[in-house]
Amino acid sequence: LLTPLGPLKEFVKRVTSLNFGENGPCPICMNNLNEESGFDDDSTPSPSSTSSCDVCKLRKCGHMLHRSCLITYSKNSTDAKGCLRCPTCKVIHGVKRGDMPSTGTMTVSKKRYSLPGHPRCGTIEIVYSFQPGVQNGVNYRANGFPRTCYLPDSSKGQKVLQLLRVAWERRLTFTIGTSVTTGATNTIVWNEIHHKTESTSNHSGHGYPDENYLDNVLAELAAQGVTEREECG
Ligand code: NAD
Ligand code: ZN
Ligand code: ZN
Repeated sequence: LLTPLGPLKEFVKRVTSLNFGENGPCPICMNNLNEESGFDDDSTPSPSSTSSCDVCKLRKCGHMLHRSCLITYSKNSTDAKGCLRCPTCKVIHGVKRGDMPSTGTMTVSKKRYSLPGHPRCGTIEIVYSFQPGVQNGVNYRANGFPRTCYLPDSSKGQKVLQLLRVAWERRLTFTIGTSVTTGATNTIVWNEIHHKTESTSNHSGHGYPDENYLDNVLAELAAQGVTEREECG
């Protein structure tokens, strides 16, 4: 009997053919998909080849893997509940949400000055603010807030702002952890989406000019599943 997929069901579609050739081996156990999962080694006698219901095809990207490998992979995944990252191409199925404390504020304002490397378009200032608090029984610090961040007020900068708002709503912008810079534990730290906190120079590496910044942060947002257009079904 097959283990139920539970919430994973919404991320997979039916496999209609047993033509697994193009997919390559299962990314989890590395066995071919027309063979059993390498992890299904219980002693009960089983058929020598799989049937279509033993293989799952991910909805967004079409990559396939053994059903039991998908279940094992998802159990061991560190990604948040409610989403699944394809082990082959890393596309996120579902919506990834973080554990950023929900008591902070994100305040946006527009300024007339322009950033180095982005002349004549003005600047978007984002101010993030947090207070220390308690989450899941853990007291957390909020060092170095408020933090002010800068984007050019260009069309690409505005697009980044819109996605940063989505990241904020999904509680992805910060997390609670150990600061690499200060060593402080249980404190609110940046979470894999880089922000520019220096507006007139780039001495820290977190400033302007940096001609790759907007593209880099778009890629970092995409890695968290925050993209301009959500594919549906
Ligand atoms: P961190 O040091 O754990 O680093 C996490 C990520 O943030 C890394 O990717 C890193 O590259 C990036 N990062 C580090 N310094 C940054 C900066 N100045 N601007 C933008 N991104 C930066 O993360 P953290 O502890 O959240 O951030 C460290 C920065 O926060 C410090 O450099 C400082 O600017 C600020 N801070 C200030 C105080 C204060 O008392 N004034 C205290 C703590 C942190
Ligand atoms: Zn497998
Ligand atoms: Zn994939």
